[in-house]
Amino acid sequence: MTNNRVLSYDDVLLKPQYSDIRSRSQIDISSNLRNGLSLELPVVSSPMDTISETPMAIAMSKHGGAGTIHRYCSIEKQCRMVHMAIDLSYEDLPKVGAAVGVSDDYEDRARKLVDSGATFLCIDVAHGHHILMKEALENLRSIFGTDYHLMAGNVATLEGVNALSDWGADSVRCNIGGGSICSTRIQTGHGMPGLQTIFECAKTDRDVTIIADGGIRNSGDIVKALAAGADAVMCGSLLSGTNETPGKVTEGKDGSRWKTYRGMASKEAQIGWRGRYSSHEGVSTTVPYRGGVKYVLGDLERGIRSGFSYSGARDLRSLQATAEFVVQTSSGLSESHTHITTRKW
Ligand code: IMP
Repeated sequence: MTNNRVLSYDDVLLKPQYSDIRSRSQIDISSNLRNGLSLELPVVSSPMDTISETPMAIAMSKHGGAGTIHRYCSIEKQCRMVHMAIDLSYEDLPKVGAAVGVSDDYEDRARKLVDSGATFLCIDVAHGHHILMKEALENLRSIFGTDYHLMAGNVATLEGVNALSDWGADSVRCNIGGGSICSTRIQTGHGMPGLQTIFECAKTDRDVTIIADGGIRNSGDIVKALAAGADAVMCGSLLSGTNETPGKVTEGKDGSRWKTYRGMASKEAQIGWRGRYSSHEGVSTTVPYRGGVKYVLGDLERGIRSGFSYSGARDLRSLQATAEFVVQTSSGLSESHTHITTRKW
């Protein structure tokens, strides 16, 4: 789709198309992120300390996605979590990564995580189109060779994706400032609407895959991101509040139950992992407790299959080839949400 507007998920819909697919079981929603990372369900969990530790990594891997264990702890603890997730998933090819930064102990952390069995490394910084990312990626690529999957991000532009690919990334997390708990755009004035980021980044001519990260609120957003050119999505809030996230369930007097979900650049998270905070670009909040993540992932999978079917697409590449986006007005958006009213004549 070509347009001069800068669009986000709510601004567009996919035009329903003729389908000759008789059953949704004939639809293949798998995605190959290159270099040994292949997903049956194109969903990756965010490397955040209220989302991804051992239980989430096991659940994501078991359901065909991938789990990315966060780096906000000692190297030993992170390696233990990776090792346990690999051990307890009882799979031939578990999809368990870990995140590392780009400074201080990152090289030591990366070597030990790979020794612990991590299937991929995620080089995880807020502004990935940066000289420190270049140095870290080139260094890790030279250490681990060409056959190990390196995921890196985040970027919001085609130039960013191309640069990270040239520096050695197999997959790139795209979107800056679009996360549900993120205040980067307000604090810094920088970012790009989430879906436009994917339209732009997917123009890459490099051999690299695109992960739409942040701002994904439902399976409809996942289908839009994939149709726009993403190979997978990365989710935080969609998986938050489930049994498999770290942290306890708090119960209110009225019987309501909730868990904490926080941005890794929030004051609370920074104080939690390094005892102080500098500039903060995220918030900490509570979300309703939602039970097992398998129910969330099951709903997402069914929603994605259904989305492919409305575009008449049997797999990801045919979705991307046939998808037609239309821009909707605010009236279209309110019509898209359930909007039953009680009539009073
Ligand atoms: P969500 O799925 O919309 O909740 O967004 C999750 C994504 O937000 C993560 O995968 C990160 O890319 C991003 N993120 C996590 N913590 C922060 C933060 O504190 N500030 C800005 N972005 C964040």
